[in-house]
Amino acid sequence: MPLHQLDDNRVTDYSADYFLSGALVTNADNVIVYVNTYFKKELHWHCNELIGKYIDKILTKSSKIFLQSYVLPTLIHEKKCQEMQLIMLSAQGERMAVTVNAQLDEKGFIYWSFFNATQRDKLYDELIKTREKLEAQTERLQSLASTDELTSLLNRREMDYRSVLLLEQAKRTHRSVALLVIDIDDFKQINDTYGHLEGDRVLKELGQCLKKISRQTDLVARYGGEEFLIMLPDTHSADTLIFCQRLHQLIAEIKVGSEGLTVSVGACMSDSNSTFTELFKHADNAVYQAKANGKNTTYMHS
Ligand code: GH3
Ligand code: MG
Ligand code: MG
Repeated sequence: MPLHQLDDNRVTDYSADYFLSGALVTNADNVIVYVNTYFKKELHWHCNELIGKYIDKILTKSSKIFLQSYVLPTLIHEKKCQEMQLIMLSAQGERMAVTVNAQLDEKGFIYWSFFNATQRDKLYDELIKTREKLEAQTERLQSLASTDELTSLLNRREMDYRSVLLLEQAKRTHRSVALLVIDIDDFKQINDTYGHLEGDRVLKELGQCLKKISRQTDLVARYGGEEFLIMLPDTHSADTLIFCQRLHQLIAEIKVGSEGLTVSVGACMSDSNSTFTELFKHADNAVYQAKANGKNTTYMHS
């Protein structure tokens, strides 16, 4: 038993058994040759249940894999392993998180030190849960900031941002993009005749209709009160006109009283140096033309 002389002449027993950490030695075959009483006190293993057994015995399945695939190779390579996180098993099979330091000597013996890490593990769990909550919250906030509440389509700000990116990409790949400005015909009258709630229902249904007719890669936004924008990447003018025809047909299925809803559409095609602002201006002017042409129609800017 090691003895230590204190300054005040008291002689104290500093047996390793009083340390609140596990000391364990394995030989070159990974067989346990020494354990201190930590394993009895903390994990309820009898010394003779462990001596002569593989170290695997006190580890969970995943920790065994970690031991074989990382800890032992590292020890062989670097002679030392520090702050490894392992899960140990008690004699009753309960799991306990531990931090492990280990050192390999020249005869192949490994000196293992184990430190309880249950609190750290709890903290870590809490940290992970908090992080997950924050991520979910951020995602919700991002979605709130980028979508229109009534229709769940992109809002104006997000459309301004994404349309610029989409145009840049189209320029790089030398493909044309169509921009549609869609304005509900006589919406003020719909509100006046059927009330604002009915007006909102119409906006919502139109939003769903635009989403349904569009491809995943199209940008669909509520750009103003009763004005919607669709940007169609990789689309030529003939296809754009076919798309608009289908759009008018589908929108007519939305009923307002006994009538089908109608919209006026202004369309504009991009060229190799168009900006979103220019495209929007042309498409917006085209809507006025469509209105002037009697509404419920598409006018293509040329
Ligand atoms: P036009 O055919 O020329 O487009 O006529 P319009 O009546 O559709 O156009 P105007 O610009 O005169 O009216 C648009 C109306 O849209 C006025 C406004 O009260 C209504 N509006 C805007 N936002 C909303 C909304 O969120 N909900 C409802 N119910 N109405 C809205
Ligand atoms: Mg309008
Ligand atoms: Mg309108």
